[in-house]
Amino acid sequence: MAKRDYYEVLGVERGADDAELKKAYRRLAMKYHPDRNPDDKAAEEKFKEANEAYEVLSDANKRAAYDQYGHAGVDPQMGGAGAGFAGGASFSDIFGDVFSDFFGGARGGQRGGPQRGSDLRYTLELSLEEAVRGTTVTIRVPTLANCKTCGGSGAKKGSSPTTCSTCGGIGQVRMQQGFFSVQQTCPRCHGSGKMITDPCGDCHGQGRVEEHKTLSVKVPAGVDTGDRIRLAGEGEAGAQGGPSGDLYVVVNVREHDIFQRDGRDLYCEVPISFADAALGGELEVPTLDGRVKLKIPEGTQTGKLFRLRGKGVTPVRGGSAGDLMCRVVVETPVKLDKHQRELLEEFRRSLQSDSSHSPRASGWFEGMKRFFDDL
Ligand SMILES: [Zn+2]
Ligand SMILES: [Zn+2]
Repeated sequence: MAKRDYYEVLGVERGADDAELKKAYRRLAMKYHPDRNPDDKAAEEKFKEANEAYEVLSDANKRAAYDQYGHAGVDPQMGGAGAGFAGGASFSDIFGDVFSDFFGGARGGQRGGPQRGSDLRYTLELSLEEAVRGTTVTIRVPTLANCKTCGGSGAKKGSSPTTCSTCGGIGQVRMQQGFFSVQQTCPRCHGSGKMITDPCGDCHGQGRVEEHKTLSVKVPAGVDTGDRIRLAGEGEAGAQGGPSGDLYVVVNVREHDIFQRDGRDLYCEVPISFADAALGGELEVPTLDGRVKLKIPEGTQTGKLFRLRGKGVTPVRGGSAGDLMCRVVVETPVKLDKHQRELLEEFRRSLQSDSSHSPRASGWFEGMKRFFDDL
């Protein structure tokens, strides 16, 4: 069975903060706890599923791996960051944590109130040159910003939110469920502790409005596909005066016509003529800083790699520049005129009866001969 998305399992947004995760997990754990659902296989599965999701998402490292690679990044079967979580070994730990908070800390429990805004993700397309040299780009991102009309309160100008009568402004209500006394988010005010009787017209009582903002992003030299640049506080505005989330700019480097990048090294292919390969010569090869001359010795075979030291990429996390690897590819001449044909015919005759001019072919024929003799 395909695994469900962990955020979906917990029923939270991708940008959910620790408090939201814990709250969502606590709710599911209460609902599907084996003690409360004896001999219910489906409930047990749900309980395990929620445990696993919370185990990963509540750990910053595992969560980052999961956000980037999905289940493969944390799947215990894949030997990823989540290895070691299997069966029930760590259930008690998670549970201990949540439940101690649940029972012990219930009085001071989490009030609805300021909530941190969601983190946002923006994919930034760069050319190879931009990624290697660094650049500054201007991006336009959609975001939720505090409503200016009501100052983020959600209440119409001149009015102010009133205290929720159901929870008395605490944002949580206590309910008796079996032998558990459960603290739940107030269903009336959804945890905010406040009621808006006269909502602001511009944000419809949300306190936040959708906006586009323009940001200048400084991209350091040497970034590669998958690198993330964090712009603190540039994510969504928080609710009820909470802090803003962060904006993650994720780099995606476009394919280049000439160069392929592998970490700090660059690769390119350079076609050379059959005559240059045989006689040796000087080639012009491209680098990111312009053309350079490359000497080719006589007798160069196709596929040979020439290394140009320091003409690769200086990695963003430091270290020395990589190399440019030029692979020469011998090109067979085409559309020969009569004179050229005659020259090549004569050349071919001159090679006959002396295999020393073709080291690879002679080796190959030797091998083939042995192969047939052995049959
Ligand atoms: Zn408003
Ligand atoms: Zn309430």
